[in-house]
Amino acid sequence: MTAWLARLRAGLFIFAAGTTGATAAPLASLEGACNNLAGKIKSVPAGECKSAGLNIASVASVQGQPILWRDYRSVKSKTPAKRVLLVGGIHGDELSSVAVTFEWMRRLADQEQQPFYWRVVPCLNPDGVLAGISRRVNARGVDLNRNFPTPDWNAKAERYWREKTKSDVRRFPGPKAGSEPETRWLMEQIKTFKPDAIVSIHAPYGVLDFDGPRTPPQRLGFLNLSELGTYPGSLGNYAGEFLGIPIITLELPHSEASPTVAQSGRIWTDLLKWLERNLPQGAPPLFQRLSDPNWLRNAP
Ligand SMILES: [Zn+2]
Repeated sequence: MTAWLARLRAGLFIFAAGTTGATAAPLASLEGACNNLAGKIKSVPAGECKSAGLNIASVASVQGQPILWRDYRSVKSKTPAKRVLLVGGIHGDELSSVAVTFEWMRRLADQEQQPFYWRVVPCLNPDGVLAGISRRVNARGVDLNRNFPTPDWNAKAERYWREKTKSDVRRFPGPKAGSEPETRWLMEQIKTFKPDAIVSIHAPYGVLDFDGPRTPPQRLGFLNLSELGTYPGSLGNYAGEFLGIPIITLELPHSEASPTVAQSGRIWTDLLKWLERNLPQGAPPLFQRLSDPNWLRNAP
């Protein structure tokens, strides 16, 4: 290969990596990530975050912030435990969703007898959370909850954004489905962890929403069921309707102020009861699409 061609290829690679963020490794340590989060969210003390057993994802946010995650395994389950993926902070200006995820991590650390195998991602959108004024979208201005590759994305996502939201900059679905590193990392977790249910925390509508198979919970703590419908590229549409994984979306009542510990505790208790009723141990996996080798290839 000629030198100029090699340089061109290297340049193209850097451009491509910069565009997709696919190869971006986290720039900050766990310590730095926890200090940053604690600086934004009072109820997440840096020391507790640092000692919570969190891992740093191999892929970082657009701005190189670590995405933190950890697993909690049940000591009780004899058969393979049903798996639950819990995600907070998809929208960066919904700080209460990060706080409640940390609150539930405290419960998981204390409740080794609970029957599920959890993967917990307290903050999927650290760039949005850590922006000077926290913002819903990621660092490239993409609403991660409109960026998942739902079958209707190519046909509808951009048109929906232009016509229904009047090109609301808070709801931009991205230049293409799955364009953002944070979205792709979560897709990878769904593919490899194979959750039997997903719990996604948002704010500020004060309700609970549900997509996918199973009978939705009517009430979890003080949150009542109100099915909000799905959007092109939303996680509810992608996981619930496309992949067939039941997904509970909790909409806390305030974006900044968290529910009290007692209130989020009642939501937690009701959530565990619903999961136990709806994901009985030993039952075959609900979703078929993940076992189909073509499932990602067929996605737009
Ligand atoms: Zn939200």
